[in-house]
Amino acid sequence: MIVGVPKEIKNHEYRVGMTPSSVRELTSRGHQVLVQKNAGTEIGLTDEQYQAVGAELVETAKEIFERAEMIVKVKEPQPVECAMLRPGQILYTYLHLAPDPEQTAALVKSGAICIAYETITGANGGLPLLAPMSEVAGRMSIQAGAAHLEKSKGGMGLLLGGVPGVAPAHIVIIGAGVVGTNAMQMAVGTGARVTVLDKSVDRLRQLDLVYGNRISTVYSNAQAIEEAVLSADLVIGGVLVPGAAAPKLVSRDLISRMKKGAVVVDVAIDQGGCFETSHATTHAEPTYVVDGVIHYCVANMPGAVARTSTFALNNATVGHAVALASKGWQQALRDDVHLRNGLNVCEGKVTYEAVARDLGYEY
Ligand code: NAD
Repeated sequence: MIVGVPKEIKNHEYRVGMTPSSVRELTSRGHQVLVQKNAGTEIGLTDEQYQAVGAELVETAKEIFERAEMIVKVKEPQPVECAMLRPGQILYTYLHLAPDPEQTAALVKSGAICIAYETITGANGGLPLLAPMSEVAGRMSIQAGAAHLEKSKGGMGLLLGGVPGVAPAHIVIIGAGVVGTNAMQMAVGTGARVTVLDKSVDRLRQLDLVYGNRISTVYSNAQAIEEAVLSADLVIGGVLVPGAAAPKLVSRDLISRMKKGAVVVDVAIDQGGCFETSHATTHAEPTYVVDGVIHYCVANMPGAVARTSTFALNNATVGHAVALASKGWQQALRDDVHLRNGLNVCEGKVTYEAVARDLGYEY
């Protein structure tokens, strides 16, 4: 199969659909891979590295879309990319269609076979192509929080781990899923005092077994959240209620009673955020202040560490890319129910129930 990897064109997107080692997985099986020139240059993946594993460098995205039978990307296709897709072509990337009627209409019109990373399921449950980005965002949340607790960034001037003779900061993590667990691992590493809240006692039990008295686990309810947040220096929001907007667990009133110069990092902002005062921000201007509390609410946190994120994403995507290229999409989807769950739009029809329902397509 001819597989194409265009350079990402969304604003400030430096990730790339395939690393050279992923390309090698395809070329070593006899597939042809077209990579747009400079697709990975910004994150240190050079054209020479792609050539060395057998990729053909191509000048324009237009040529890639014309020649490739499968397009592998990171972000949802932008309108100019949707217009280049054609019937029978496979698109393998993040799509996030439910809140995006324009993109959905464009993909339906294209006649392409559109497989969304975010709805591919895993043999052990969960969403394995979404998890790496939650791991990145969870780990980054502590880094972002630590930086913004510094005085020059508007914070109260606090070092997370303290020093001998000076108490460490108190980090409160709401939600102990993939984001929360990764945040917690980093938080424990800093030497801070760490409290983790979740609705799932099973989840808290697992963490307690591993981390023992290095963390406090607390069952999440309004009273527990209030007590934890009022004593916190840094609060990480990492809750998710699948298929729903994030619950507003920290009210405006509670924010106003927090320590001045404390920081909240709302990782759940891509689902609307779990602090009542949250609104989405960008890497260019990541924070704003409400009642003396610094809010960091970047909707696309992994984009800041695009090199790490690209490798983490490729680890999760390359297996299915090889299956699609080697078997063709029909056979690959027949063989693997989890990959089939990724099919969102196929030859002019919406094939993912939640998207069809939300956007009024026949299913
Ligand atoms: P997850 O499903 O692994 O974990 C969510 C956890 O929240 C679960 O353990 C659940 O029990 C818990 N929870 C639900 N309601 C709760 C409540 N009332 N109180 C306490 N805990 C509660 O999800 P995840 O992969 O960790 O993702 C969390 C959020 O982060 C999602 O909205 C995801 O989209 C988002 N995310 C954002 C970025 C970003 O760049 N901002 C990147 C990756 C993920």
